[in-house]
Amino acid sequence: MIPITDMHVHTSDSPDADIPARELVARGLNMNLAGIGFVAHVDLDPEDYCYGGFKENTYNRSIELARREAANRILVLKGIEVGEPHIYEEQVKEIVDYSAYDFITGAIHSVEGAGMILGKSAYENANPLEIVERYYTETLQMVAEADMDILAHMGLFRRGLALAGLEHDFNELELWPDTILRILEIIIDRNISLELNTSGLRRRENITYPTPWILELYHRIGGTLITIGSDTHREPYVFFGLFDGRQLLIESGFKEVFCFENRIPKRMSLV
Ligand SMILES: [Zn+2]
Ligand SMILES: [Zn+2]
Repeated sequence: MIPITDMHVHTSDSPDADIPARELVARGLNMNLAGIGFVAHVDLDPEDYCYGGFKENTYNRSIELARREAANRILVLKGIEVGEPHIYEEQVKEIVDYSAYDFITGAIHSVEGAGMILGKSAYENANPLEIVERYYTETLQMVAEADMDILAHMGLFRRGLALAGLEHDFNELELWPDTILRILEIIIDRNISLELNTSGLRRRENITYPTPWILELYHRIGGTLITIGSDTHREPYVFFGLFDGRQLLIESGFKEVFCFENRIPKRMSLV
């Protein structure tokens, strides 16, 4: 068994993904994964592509089928990925009971509301670095305020920059060292896990979110709580980059990787 639980896997219950949970379980078994942390998008920003797409009953049913398929041979965890929880958490909690989930992942998908979606259009009429700076300010606010277990894909703006053909190989640690350090200190204080998201490895930016430099800083200041996630949505990129991600964690000095069960972190040795 490979001691990795992929903690960021979208099922066909997310509007932008199309593989059923039980099929993903079969694939995970083939790869000898230790577990799969499923997520469904809960986005209440009306500008978001996945806005209003969360159907709790259908998602519950999918997870039930996945657990049946798994038959205890692989860990099946049920999570949600909440977009901008520092803004929408109150509304999200009106429709979702957090205690029914193994983990809550917090994500920044857009910055300052309408028109700032992290895609090509976001960067057309603005200074890209100003948007990136706001992305980190929003991230800081999110991790300080939101009820969440995992900080998703910090650095996702690179996808938008790369799509827009803009420069994306800068080191943000040199540009905003204080904000980024503060984000990492807060997640350590609040027991929020940093996610090493490997989906950037399959895109033209070819880098993890966060970057290896931020990952190293997190480790240096005492961060140990870390999860790994492929952000699987559809073929052909199922569980992509997990092994490279695991290697990067080891090289950065981490000894363990985590998953969450009933919102409690569980450790697994990396070596
Ligand atoms: Zn996301
Ligand atoms: Zn996701």
